[in-house]
Amino acid sequence: MTDAAVRRVTVLGSTGSVGTSTLDVIARHPERYCVHALTAHTSREALLAQCLVHRPEVAVLATEADAVWLRRELKTAGVAAAVTAGVEALCEVARDSAVDTVMAAIVGGAGLLPAMAAAKAGKRVLLANKEALVMSGALFMDAVAASGATLLPIDSEHNAIYQCLPAEHRGGLSCHGVSQLLLTASGGPLRHLSGEALERVTPDEACAHPNWSMGRKISVDSATLMNKGLELIEACWLFDATPEQVQVVVHPQSVVHSMVAYDDGSVIAQMGNPDMRTPIAYGLAFPERIDAGVKPLDLFQVAQLDFERPDEARFPCLRLAREAMLAGGTAPAVLNAANEIAVDAFLDQRLGFAAIARVVEDVLESEPVAQAASLEAIVDADRRARDAAARRVVHHGAPRR
Ligand code: NAD
Ligand code: MG
Repeated sequence: MTDAAVRRVTVLGSTGSVGTSTLDVIARHPERYCVHALTAHTSREALLAQCLVHRPEVAVLATEADAVWLRRELKTAGVAAAVTAGVEALCEVARDSAVDTVMAAIVGGAGLLPAMAAAKAGKRVLLANKEALVMSGALFMDAVAASGATLLPIDSEHNAIYQCLPAEHRGGLSCHGVSQLLLTASGGPLRHLSGEALERVTPDEACAHPNWSMGRKISVDSATLMNKGLELIEACWLFDATPEQVQVVVHPQSVVHSMVAYDDGSVIAQMGNPDMRTPIAYGLAFPERIDAGVKPLDLFQVAQLDFERPDEARFPCLRLAREAMLAGGTAPAVLNAANEIAVDAFLDQRLGFAAIARVVEDVLESEPVAQAASLEAIVDADRRARDAAARRVVHHGAPRR
């Protein structure tokens, strides 16, 4: 590969779980990738350490006070990176003409504007930030189509489905003989608990995921099955599917990352060890394949693959997400916002585990559904839903233990 072919990458949310895995893959291929920008919210020490290793042109933090600190530290270390702060600075490094690839790995709705900036600027967008797509699905897909951006799903299930679909799958699944998308779910660490035991779950128990090591917000979402609900919505937008075309399958080993069923009876699966570096490497190198540092899958050690139906009575978040997708408009943004507030309150021990779903359901019932015709309408629905959820958190109150 010539120097001109080196891809310049912005990693949004570089200090998180997906962000650090992305830098791990990039560092294995210095002849292919270089880092243009790294961004973090408040983890300034972690961002400083990454800047010393990866030498970005730009580093972005949330506040100017943290940016002043980082500028001073980088100057002392003799590293010449520009340091900026705030949401507009995130959008700037996502749309910068020097950049061709943007990893969108900020957690939550905070990632929407920078991910959208990358999509509008026609970048290769590696999308881990599922909340951005859940909030703004139609607008996001329109922006990708209008700019000619390449959207590659990094969420492991969607990456698997992408790999199992025909190369050209635009225009609806039925045109390509696809009967169903089979979205696998580990079931999370609380899969076997009774409804009563779920009331008393602590943050550490909810975050102890059996197969994946992830940030705390997505770990709680995995435990409530809201993660699978968000992923169902994500799959509908990415693959032009209806909620009825997406079947969630609980698969505790997390070896089959998802499947596509075809009209002729074929079911194509993508398998591998549960390690995000596989989908990240796929997105970075597409359509080529590169080493991701992932151990080969040992089928003899796996030995057995189990599949079960999800239990929506104990885990209502999956049903709530499907209903929000069917309601359309701003309903998925409302679902996402209420969930973010409820998960935050749960992690802060201000809300019980089972009450997360109650808060989301209350807010979906109380908030009117508007058309998601503009980013402003979505951001407005998001803000209202957060306020409503904060009130419901107070109403439901601290956990019973
Ligand atoms: P994380 O909490 O480990 O990291 C989040 C990153 O975003 C950090 O760099 C943090 O500094 C930054 N950030 C947080 N809040 C921010 C804000 N308000 N403004 C700007 N930056 C902010 O999260 P993660 O587990 O890496 O997940 C990132 C995204 O990828 C999420 O949307 C998640 O659903 C998705 N995802 C994660 C995994 C996984 O294995 N971790 C798998 C699939 C999808
Ligand atoms: Mg996933």
